[in-house]
Amino acid sequence: VTATPQPPTTELDDIFISVKTTKNYHDTRLALIIKTWFQLARDQTWFFTDTDDHYYQEKTKGHLINTKCSQGHFRKALCCKMSAELDVFLQSGKKWFCHFDDDNYVNVPRLVKLLDEYSPSVDWYLGKPSISSPLEIHLDNKNATTNKKITFWFATGGAGFCLSRALTLKMLPIAGGGKFISIGDKIRFPDDVTMGFIIEHLLKVPLTVVDNFHSHLEPMEFIRSDTFQDQVSFSYAHMKNQWNVIKVDGFDLKTDPKRFYSLHCQLFPYFSFCPPR
Ligand code: UDP
Ligand code: MN
Repeated sequence: VTATPQPPTTELDDIFISVKTTKNYHDTRLALIIKTWFQLARDQTWFFTDTDDHYYQEKTKGHLINTKCSQGHFRKALCCKMSAELDVFLQSGKKWFCHFDDDNYVNVPRLVKLLDEYSPSVDWYLGKPSISSPLEIHLDNKNATTNKKITFWFATGGAGFCLSRALTLKMLPIAGGGKFISIGDKIRFPDDVTMGFIIEHLLKVPLTVVDNFHSHLEPMEFIRSDTFQDQVSFSYAHMKNQWNVIKVDGFDLKTDPKRFYSLHCQLFPYFSFCPPR
């Protein structure tokens, strides 16, 4: 007698993938995502931006959400978008909320496999910190003369992170319906830090470190190409005239400076723009 294989508890359609973007990055970043990994999760991925854009609205089959948050790389605008992402997820009824930046490449099948290892009805905060010790912040205490010092971990937004539905339901009364923004205003830290503050400090749910998430705060060239299949996310950055990008064979640097087309062809060689093998 052979054991009946158990169906996976999590599949792609259980996941809500949100990508934070902005007007200025539609052509330079969104277009690249749409041509590559978005094609593997078209119904599950939503883009949170700050303008109407008919061209990309069409390209994403209506998956561009104008948050009406202000444009700009400042705390209030970023927290406003994260708040919108969380609220739309809560409405969606999906089992998992995964946030990414628009300079992330998401390895869709690997993300599904990762989440299949966890239960959406248990509190999970999955991601990767970019600092080696927990963040220490000082909270002003209205009624006290001394400031309260607290420490907590947070998952770097630029690497991507995932929250189980169970956890987001606990967040709902304190951070849902736009309240996420007020918490960000109170602690005066960016959106990913605010997320860590709510989850680790207020709800006492610890961050589970998943090393397969990668932001461009890490040197991308050290991710070994024989492990690409096992990584959940990648990123890139252009700083001080230097590209921080993964080392991958494929298109030349001029055609593919960010290396995402080459990575995509390594992972999914059957795509039409990939060279015949
Ligand atoms: N972003 C935004 N508004 C801006 C600038 C950036 O919403 O005015 C978003 C951007 O689309 C990305 C994230 O914030 O998803 C991080 O931006 P970026 O990669 O430019 O900066 P980083 O924080 O990684 O240095
Ligand atoms: Mn970035």
